[in-house]
Amino acid sequence: MAQQEDLLKKIIAHAKEYGFVFPSSDIYDGLSAVYDYGPNGVELKKNIRNYWWKAMVQMHENIVGLDAAIFMHPTIWKASGHVDAFSDPLIDNKDSKKRYRADVLVEDYLAKIEAKINKEVTKARKRFGESFDEKQFQETNPRVVANRQKMEEIKARLYPAMDRSDMAAIKQLIEDLGIADPVSGSKNWTDVRQFNLMFSTQMGSTADGASEIYLRPETAQGIFVNYLNVQKTSRMKIPFGIAQTGKAFRNEIVARQFIFRMREFEQMEMQFFVRPGTEMEWYKSWKEKRMNWHLSTGIPAEKFRFHDHDKLAHYANAATDIEFEFPMGFKELEGIHSRTNFDLSAHEKYSGKKLRYFDSEINESYVPYVIETSIGLDRMFLAILSNAYTEENLEGGTQRIVMKLPPFLAPYKIAVFPLTKKDGLPEKAREVMDNLKSDFMCFYEEKDTIGKRYRRHDAIGTPYCITVDHQTLEDNTVTLRERDSMKQERIPMNEISGIVAKSLTQNNQGL
Ligand code: ATP
Repeated sequence: MAQQEDLLKKIIAHAKEYGFVFPSSDIYDGLSAVYDYGPNGVELKKNIRNYWWKAMVQMHENIVGLDAAIFMHPTIWKASGHVDAFSDPLIDNKDSKKRYRADVLVEDYLAKIEAKINKEVTKARKRFGESFDEKQFQETNPRVVANRQKMEEIKARLYPAMDRSDMAAIKQLIEDLGIADPVSGSKNWTDVRQFNLMFSTQMGSTADGASEIYLRPETAQGIFVNYLNVQKTSRMKIPFGIAQTGKAFRNEIVARQFIFRMREFEQMEMQFFVRPGTEMEWYKSWKEKRMNWHLSTGIPAEKFRFHDHDKLAHYANAATDIEFEFPMGFKELEGIHSRTNFDLSAHEKYSGKKLRYFDSEINESYVPYVIETSIGLDRMFLAILSNAYTEENLEGGTQRIVMKLPPFLAPYKIAVFPLTKKDGLPEKAREVMDNLKSDFMCFYEEKDTIGKRYRRHDAIGTPYCITVDHQTLEDNTVTLRERDSMKQERIPMNEISGIVAKSLTQNNQGL
């Protein structure tokens, strides 16, 4: 675990040093859980976003896009349930003055018991070797059985208390378990209270009677309230989807783990409208499609898993998370939810406008059911970054850090170097660059040795480096160096474009 946390620290430092991600307001010592994307980060982020858009919109005739405003009518958040229920239980430690999510304190406690169980199992496996029967051990070892039972008892208190929003019961549970502040060890807790995660602000001048509005905590509601506008203007027939990417804001209580949990982040969401009764088959199909999309980025399958929810939100009849193995363990990357007709029905009720669809195939009018796929762009960015980050030991005892990004996501596709700054090589290299830059993101560099320039581009994941030397002046050939294999080959200048273009479409079969 320590090693993994170490990896996260290294990624954060690398992301800053190489212009991927900076803490927001850095010269003012940052703003908690807010980050800025630097020159390389913005390219990588845009490429991930475009790749999602391509898979969802370009590859599906029945999915269209939308860009709804961040500000929306405040009643929308009443209808969606966010005003009343989009909150987390918060608790403060009176001695350390640290603030925690009360449910997370209990869940961390559960994770510790689970870790104890796993330790027992590992120990027993070592002791019994080949003949070890894990199932039997789990069912009969007294310490494991007692710990499992303890976990079940805690869950049986936590989850119903969360469902009832019974803050006193959660506080009691924390006290009964003797949970201490992880920082100070103090058990001197305040009461637990609900904390709404929506940011609010005022719209209009006070003289006009300003009204309180919210920064959207998800992009989905912009899709729901535009459902009829989009369906009619793009002549969509059910089943069809609406896709949107954009900023969302949540005043997260505990914001840590870099861009995994931010207060301002970006979502990529798609709501798929279907005939009631067909939702389970669409839910299954979207689960599969979304997993295939993740795999098409080249990340190995063992880094992903589904986590089906046993405990469903009141509006959902099926839900799963696609979890990714981040440096801090398996965590939610994307949610796929069968949301029934909850949102559209609520908007019908609150707006007084009909949000029905007339299905001519069955001659019936209904409020469509919805399957939602919702992924955090920043979390996907972290997944891609942590999978790509590689420390490699080279011959001669040196080390290189290489970002093994799939070429289609890399910020720059090609770096162009003149071998030296003289003899007309920069001019020739500029000519190469000019031929390529309208088709590919290219970077021109002449400072430092070629070796150093290679290292800098390894560190940002540029898949190809081109070196122009004296021979280029004679026969128009250049050296093409491939990032991962570090192989160099001499090729005619006019072949660069084809080689690079080919590498950018390698993932397309996964779409
Ligand atoms: P979590 O349980 O981690 O708080 P969630 O279940 O509240 O997430 P959803 O409301 O389902 O998340 O949001 C959909 C997606 O948006 C998530 O899968 C995640 O990728 C992303 N997301 C949610 N909250 C944040 C955040 N604070 N920072 C970055 N991404 C986020």
